[in-house]
Amino acid sequence: MNLKQVDVWFVTGSQHLYGDETLKQVAEHSKEIAKALSGSKQIPVNVVFKPVLTTPEEITRLCIEANTTQNCIGLITWMHTFSPAKMWIAGLSALQKPFVHLHTQYNRDIPWSDIDMDFMNLNQSAHGGREFGFIGTRMRRNRKVIVGFWQDKDVLCSLETWMRSACAWHDSQGAKIARFGDNMREVAVTEGDKVEAQIRLGYSVNGFGMGDLVAAVNEVSDKEIDQLISVYKDSYDLVKELHQGGSQNQALKDAAKIELGMRKFLENGGFKAFTTTFEDLHGLTQLPGLAVQRLMADGYGFGAEGDWKTAALVRAMKVMGAGLKGGTSFMEDYTYHLDPKSMKVLGAHMLEVCESIAEGKPNLKIYPLSIGGKNDPPRLVFNVKTGPALNATMIDLGHRFRMIVNTVDVVPLGAPLPRLPVARVMWTPKPDLKIAAAAWILAGGAHHTGFSQAITAEHLEDYANMANIEFLLIDENTKLSEFKKELRWNDVYYYLEKGI
Ligand code: MN
Repeated sequence: MNLKQVDVWFVTGSQHLYGDETLKQVAEHSKEIAKALSGSKQIPVNVVFKPVLTTPEEITRLCIEANTTQNCIGLITWMHTFSPAKMWIAGLSALQKPFVHLHTQYNRDIPWSDIDMDFMNLNQSAHGGREFGFIGTRMRRNRKVIVGFWQDKDVLCSLETWMRSACAWHDSQGAKIARFGDNMREVAVTEGDKVEAQIRLGYSVNGFGMGDLVAAVNEVSDKEIDQLISVYKDSYDLVKELHQGGSQNQALKDAAKIELGMRKFLENGGFKAFTTTFEDLHGLTQLPGLAVQRLMADGYGFGAEGDWKTAALVRAMKVMGAGLKGGTSFMEDYTYHLDPKSMKVLGAHMLEVCESIAEGKPNLKIYPLSIGGKNDPPRLVFNVKTGPALNATMIDLGHRFRMIVNTVDVVPLGAPLPRLPVARVMWTPKPDLKIAAAAWILAGGAHHTGFSQAITAEHLEDYANMANIEFLLIDENTKLSEFKKELRWNDVYYYLEKGI
């Protein structure tokens, strides 16, 4: 995923009142800022300068052009001078791409001894940005507001975060998600309204019979299998049973065959994420484990047991984190360590944890899977680096989607876990397990999550803002009594929001 393939337009609002000379200076300053942003190591996308907008017609034209330009993922808007905001009504009504309001000033410092009225007329964002802000709020347009000098690190970081979320949002529009098999029977939280998801979030979710996947798996040649097994040998430490002549070598060949077939199916269909379920494996010899782990590492979103919402979320998180240090994986809160001195969570899944979060070279092992009644599946087993991370979930409350994010610290395992047959990660949730788990449960958060050491809660907040869905954060500042009130207030807000 190369985010430099997409553009963000740098859009400056002004008016004719100032005369040509001032407008020329405004344009020069805008060009300089756009160029500096585009060239900054911090900024992951291209920033494209657009001519300064001075009339309602120009603004409307630009917004419509942004909508129809495939490569444009959003707008940075800046009011260097004053841009009377009634001029923006038609444009902002039409605009379908996300926008960020960069509330900055060309000059960082006031030139104390030289300042005159010309300077004041040119550097007006202090009030020009407020006029633009009013119309955004009056029109109830979701946007991010970033305040500060345009060269400052924190401003660039905040812009970068928004851009990464805009890339994920762009990626979600028209994205296709394949479901192999339906939902795990009787599970509630992995269900949801796929039509509403497509309307609200832009991706489509469709089911495929296992026979379609099995047909793709059966087309795989022995030569392809041999080639992939040599990739496994180069990338992982294999247990001896899996090697040529080993008692489980056939299981490894079957796993490679499943990976190759699945990959072909997903590539041919142009899918970005997928789900499986152990309750429907007709025609497959084993539950896809290694295949899922490796496809996730290549950028596919994944959700187990038919969990398409998590599959789409993991994909979006992977786009946000493209090129950043740290990986992103499908995850599940599996079991607790409830020692009052250090309560923690052991996260894992039956098989499907992405190797992008692995510390060191993963081990390729094989164990029986006590669920699903199929052959033993090979899987990558590894630990995860310590440090800050987060868990995110998306749930369907029946009348709206809610995203919940909990920041966590990945901590060392209490001891090696020689008998645990899966990749594992241990974390301490913020502010602590008692508050975090209670808040998560009261908010209805799923047992499945997207886990990431690459992105921050701000990435997901920006994404939720673009999607106009509810966003709840559980972090070091969370107080349960306040969180409960937020849940109640949000219920009222989202009920009324549709009608206001
Ligand atoms: Mn699960």
